[in-house]
Amino acid sequence: MTRRFAVPVFVTFVGVALFAQRTTLPAECPPGETEIRPRVCRAPDRPAPSIVDYRPRSTLVATTHLVPRAKFPAIDFHGHPQGRLGSPGTLAGLVSALDDLNVRVMVSADNASADRLQRAVSVVAGSPQKDRVRMLAGIAFRDVGPGWADRAVRQLEADVRAGAVGVGEISKELGLDIRKVDGTRLRIDDPELDPVWNACARLHLPVFIHTADPQEFFEPIDNHNERWLELSLFSDRRYPADRFPRFQELMAERDNLFKRHPNTAFVAAHMAWYANDLAKLGRLLDALPNVYTEVGAVLYDIGRQPRAAHDFFIKYQDRILFGKDSFQPEEYPYYWRVFETTDEYFDYYRPYHAFWKLYGIGLPDDVLKKVYYQNALKLTPGLPHDGWPR
Ligand SMILES: [Zn+2]
Repeated sequence: MTRRFAVPVFVTFVGVALFAQRTTLPAECPPGETEIRPRVCRAPDRPAPSIVDYRPRSTLVATTHLVPRAKFPAIDFHGHPQGRLGSPGTLAGLVSALDDLNVRVMVSADNASADRLQRAVSVVAGSPQKDRVRMLAGIAFRDVGPGWADRAVRQLEADVRAGAVGVGEISKELGLDIRKVDGTRLRIDDPELDPVWNACARLHLPVFIHTADPQEFFEPIDNHNERWLELSLFSDRRYPADRFPRFQELMAERDNLFKRHPNTAFVAAHMAWYANDLAKLGRLLDALPNVYTEVGAVLYDIGRQPRAAHDFFIKYQDRILFGKDSFQPEEYPYYWRVFETTDEYFDYYRPYHAFWKLYGIGLPDDVLKKVYYQNALKLTPGLPHDGWPR
């Protein structure tokens, strides 16, 4: 069936106002139909596959450069080794996987502290792979109230003596749902946390922080939400307005934290969830020289805007760290390929994150070295500093 849009007549008269406010989506075809000519809709003549099943085979013949190993040794600043630091055997397995990828150091961002941190450090330090893993220390944000900051700083100092080289990953729970002793939501920029951030500056510890989640996780799941499939597969990734603060509110609290502690180095995980708005991320980095960022799990945004992303990486080459997040060895080569090649229109590794294709951004060697290891080394005195390519 083919038919014209059913556009209400009043739109003609108020269209300018609607457009200016951008509060209303443009008129669109009704469910089950798609636009075949301007303002003309038609329904397919056979049942449409669901988006879960629709996997079109691309006929594009493009040059392909697979990159199984990073061109330069890398530091994975966003490592989640989880149980793999539990014994010499599991550590050896982890390091062998890292060798295949040319990841020389994994920074464990598993929030370890006290006994758990010490156990992991001693497994690493007592192994032949002692320079292959470093630990970040976790901060326990439960029970913030009188006396909390003193205890937290004492524990952090003990964790540093045990071998921690930074703090993190501060989890998204901070801001989303952690409560203070008095029952109120613990804001990311709550002044009661200040002594901890000040201690991080004094101890030269970068703070690796993950705040909120992609902005679409805070929006209704409808036909216009570009993360519809992910939100439908993982119900715990939805943040409805009646139960959680809004995305912009969390971003504002985080950015205010960065601003209030200019002597503390912060690494905003996942490109601060601004990878879909690089101009905004650029403004944040321009305004706050103590802020760095990390690329874990946002490859779908980097790789869908290769020219803008290339220019961004060139401009902010001293502020971006490599990190992968979830440890899946087969996924790292997608990062190398996006960063190192100019390949076009290739698949992403998680179809539920992104239903679009990726493009390489072709970074020059000096920028690759900064992103892969030099920036992390500069920021983190506790990382192994010897033996890196010049
Ligand atoms: Zn993480």
